[in-house]
Amino acid sequence: MLKTVKDFVNHGDLRRFRFWLQLLLFILFIYGGYAAIQLGDNLPTFSCTYVDGKPGTCFLVPLQHRMVTTPEKLFSYAGMAILTGLFYFTLWFLVFNKAWCGYACPLGTIQDWITALRKKLGFQYVTYSWEQFKKLKKIKYALLLLLIFIPMGIGSGIFSHDMGVPFCMICPARTILPIFSGDFSQLTIDFSSKTKMIMTSLGMLITGIFLVGAFVKKRFFCFFCPMSALHYLLSKPALLKLKKDGSKCTKCGDCYSVCDMQIKDIADDVESRNILRDDCIMCFKCVSACPEEGALEVDFMGQPIFEATVQGYIKRMQKGNKSG
Ligand code: SF4
Ligand code: SF4
Ligand code: SF4
Repeated sequence: MLKTVKDFVNHGDLRRFRFWLQLLLFILFIYGGYAAIQLGDNLPTFSCTYVDGKPGTCFLVPLQHRMVTTPEKLFSYAGMAILTGLFYFTLWFLVFNKAWCGYACPLGTIQDWITALRKKLGFQYVTYSWEQFKKLKKIKYALLLLLIFIPMGIGSGIFSHDMGVPFCMICPARTILPIFSGDFSQLTIDFSSKTKMIMTSLGMLITGIFLVGAFVKKRFFCFFCPMSALHYLLSKPALLKLKKDGSKCTKCGDCYSVCDMQIKDIADDVESRNILRDDCIMCFKCVSACPEEGALEVDFMGQPIFEATVQGYIKRMQKGNKSG
């Protein structure tokens, strides 16, 4: 029985499974609130607070709000509120690890849909050179630091309160996701003060860059996303893991060729057992594309739940579906 279930999963069509799960979770994170679903305010994904029907709120919102405080308060009740929020965020995150990005994040799903559109229209995509890749991947950590320190600067009177919730002001989730419930009100520039005008203009500019970028580069925004940086800092103890058995790897590069995040280690590193890297979105396309029995696997609490198998690889190849 167990073997039948395992074979069913390992030989399955990951691409189709992922498409439907992403769609389902997209509906949940845009309209779930209308069905009275309430998941709390510390979600490790862009369940955007500007969406009317959200079932919960992205953790970056309360984090920024709570950081608008003085250093003294940070070491008293404000600090407690931040730690409590981080605790609930971590609980959510530890179960699914970065699969929040590969399967649940509405902004990630939109990027995949834009990629599908580009493919349909027959345009080629671009990739970063290795040098560009190494430089660009640092941006998400810089953004994470800024979204913590700018609110502290607001709380200490260094920056204007008109900066609002600074990362949200420039985040494409704020401008794009409400559109799916017919709300276009975030697609605007606020002229009520100079600071608001600069922040909302920046937001509009980044929205434009997001749309063009996602069209020419797979998961363009995910390389720069501070949520991804925060995820990675907490990913070691997570229950869901991406593992590699280097002794079974032939370095064929099939996994690398399907990886939207251009993670070279997935093919090149034959030493690490835990092969999750900071840009990984845990889509598991690499596992689906690997032709070597057991070279890559997805584990949950130490138990393999999806493994690379020769049979699975052959089945997917026959369906023209190597990339999952
Ligand atoms: S990296 Fe950011 S934008 Fe991309 S899927 Fe993850 S949370 Fe969403
Ligand atoms: S596809 Fe499998 S065998 Fe090929 S490089 Fe990747 S892990 Fe190694
Ligand atoms: S390494 Fe594998 S799971 Fe991670 S982003 Fe690349 S293809 Fe997806």
